[in-house]
Amino acid sequence: MKTILLLGATGSIGKSTLDIIRQFPEKCKLIGIAGGKNRNALEKIGKEFSLEKSQIFLSDENKENIEMFIRKNNADIYVNAISGEAGIPATREIIQQKNPLCLANKESLVGHGIFINRTKKCEIIPIDSEHSSMAHLLSQVKKTEVKKIWLTASGGPFRDREKFPIEKFSQLSKHDALNHPTWEMGQKISIDSATLMNKAFELIEAMRLFDFPIETYQVVVHPQSIIHAAVETHDGNIIMEASTPSMHLPIARSLFTAMKESVPQKFSIEHFSPFGKNLTFEKLDNERFPSLLFAKKALELGEKKCQELLHANDESVHLFLEEKISFAEIFKRIEKIF
Ligand code: NAD
Ligand code: MG
Repeated sequence: MKTILLLGATGSIGKSTLDIIRQFPEKCKLIGIAGGKNRNALEKIGKEFSLEKSQIFLSDENKENIEMFIRKNNADIYVNAISGEAGIPATREIIQQKNPLCLANKESLVGHGIFINRTKKCEIIPIDSEHSSMAHLLSQVKKTEVKKIWLTASGGPFRDREKFPIEKFSQLSKHDALNHPTWEMGQKISIDSATLMNKAFELIEAMRLFDFPIETYQVVVHPQSIIHAAVETHDGNIIMEASTPSMHLPIARSLFTAMKESVPQKFSIEHFSPFGKNLTFEKLDNERFPSLLFAKKALELGEKKCQELLHANDESVHLFLEEKISFAEIFKRIEKIF
């Protein structure tokens, strides 16, 4: 039986993680939760899993910081599903301990990946679906065999060039941007998906998780979100990972990898049926969505620039969600850091 400390328990990834913990009470036990604002939701989870007050952390009200909370609630497995830059202090604390970190908060690796790799004492197992698939694929080939790694992107809600030409970007509403075609996610990552900044961050995340040069990565727009990553070997073979778009699979894989087990047969998930389905692939439109160019530039300039990129984006997304700036202005504000 492994104990789990879940940070960001009330969010989209947090809720899906709780679903997995509920499915496998004989394998894992929740021993602590943290969240940002939602006291009622946290208390409800606390009641369900019989947690004491000291095992629940609400960042808005707690006097102590999240680092202290983590130190007082040691677990066999840590899950960091806090969104945005707010998730970074928790990662920095957890990596000083030896038990594995199942990491959804990609911002930690985007802003501090070099530092984390240099100082971490634990294994980091990605929850992000693309990186979960990449890790699985890369375990099947030798490093020297790898020619290309595909990072797939849905293209977000504004992929259609005819319907959403760049001239209309200043009129796109928060409601339109939050309406993701294939994934159900928290607000911040949904906006990041609409700007393709999420893919830009995922490129940096992949650079920090796996040891390959940037030229190895190829972003492929795949609107159906069935293929999560692919690895092409020098012999011309391509191995792909496919499944219905649901975060339950990468979360389960991450948790069971941390337990040094494979996902049990009884794991319940919607299976993908190939009949009558079309899977398509396109190039990314860098003109309408310059995010990937920003990421490449930041990678070239170093970790400090990656932090600035992260920060400029976090701020812009918040302003956009408060309807204080337009969709087009998100790019303009970020571009200024260069
Ligand atoms: P969300 O907005 O739904 O949930 C965020 C959680 O973090 C909430 O529980 C919130 O209360 C908590 N939180 C916010 N600030 C906090 C603070 N200062 N201290 C403690 N808790 C705090 O976000 P999400 O969609 O679940 O995403 C979480 C992370 O996972 C993000 O980094 C995102 O990029 C990554 N991710 C999400 C998905 C997805 O499908 N949702 C996929 C891949 C990666
Ligand atoms: Mg992803």
